[in-house]
Amino acid sequence: MKIENPNPIEWQFSERASQLQSSFIREILKITQRPDIISFAGGLPSPATFPVEEMKAAFDKVLSNNGKVALQYGPTDGYAPLREWVANSLSTPDCTIAPEQVLMTSGSQQALDLLGKVLIDEGSRVLVETPSYLGALQAFSVYRPEFKSVATDEHGLVPSSIAPVAEGARLLYALPNFQNPTGRSLSVERRVELVETCARLGLPLIEDDPYGSLSYNGEPFPKMLNMNPDGVIYMGSFSKVLTPGIRLGYVVAPLPLVRRLELAKQAADLHTAQLTQMVVHEVIKDGFLERHIPNIRTLYGNQCQVMLDSMAEHFPKAVTWTKPEGGMFIWVTLPKQIDAMQLLDQAIAAKVAFVPGAPFYANEPETNTLRLSFVTVSPERIREGVAILGKLIAAQL
Ligand code: PMP
Repeated sequence: MKIENPNPIEWQFSERASQLQSSFIREILKITQRPDIISFAGGLPSPATFPVEEMKAAFDKVLSNNGKVALQYGPTDGYAPLREWVANSLSTPDCTIAPEQVLMTSGSQQALDLLGKVLIDEGSRVLVETPSYLGALQAFSVYRPEFKSVATDEHGLVPSSIAPVAEGARLLYALPNFQNPTGRSLSVERRVELVETCARLGLPLIEDDPYGSLSYNGEPFPKMLNMNPDGVIYMGSFSKVLTPGIRLGYVVAPLPLVRRLELAKQAADLHTAQLTQMVVHEVIKDGFLERHIPNIRTLYGNQCQVMLDSMAEHFPKAVTWTKPEGGMFIWVTLPKQIDAMQLLDQAIAAKVAFVPGAPFYANEPETNTLRLSFVTVSPERIREGVAILGKLIAAQL
């Protein structure tokens, strides 16, 4: 029974809610999902790699053998066998990670939010790369930090540029492997220097690593977590190696921090879906990823090469770009006078899309940059789209 003539509510949103902004990429994705557009904009993994049959069989098995547990509430920290799997996968001969250090999250995006919640007060200094992952800037922004940008060069984050801005900082957020958005990776020497610098400064270092296992040559970089497990907070995800729709990630942290994160998670959503965790554990427990990930690497590596070759053929000489050795993204730097946001309008009119670089900067944006992803586009369409972009850029010179 509905009441008559309720007074309309004048919503008074919190200051925090008034500041919330939609991610620019999610806005672009709405346009670029049109099938007539060649979209290099998405950060979506290729659905061709999704293990649908394996997931189906695992759902069936988990529900048949263990349905009552899978459909019940579960512990906040996660499904114990999966936490154990994560801890084992991250342990090295001289660095053991304990399952107690692992908190399963609803995608690693949730880990960013939880980290913001427990580490950032209004005005807290937070150090980020230039540029950085937009979703992290968005997640941390809710807690109103003061972002300080740390310099990067063609080899990624420059460790010597941390100390001058580190005074009072709560954390440094770093993406060492095939960074989103640039595709760059940190050399081993730089990783050591970065970990040493943060340890010397007493600065917590977040290592966000959803792409680490997607190196095209199969050689993984050493994890900074294993160089200093007392000072590094590691984030991993099943989104890029299995499928993102299951929303499953994890954060590995020293015990005092992981306990706080767990309390924050309890308040946020009690726990990550038990059924999903059990299904993923069922799929991966006997080495599935070792067979599966090489297929993803090959597919992405080939398509990356097609894009790099097409760019060399079609882009004017004044344009430069990164040459990723893994992951899903290429970062393009246009001549200074070209604004990638304006270029995007023209590109969409010509039925090609990309993400302009500006939103990836916490502070002063470089407006002549853009991000391209090649993983969901066929080689023919990559060539076609890059040729169109090349013409549009040339017309502005
Ligand atoms: N970190 C980085 C660097 C990412 O690129 C993404 C996804 N685009 C995430 C975290 C979040 O991934 P998920 O929540 O799907 O695990």
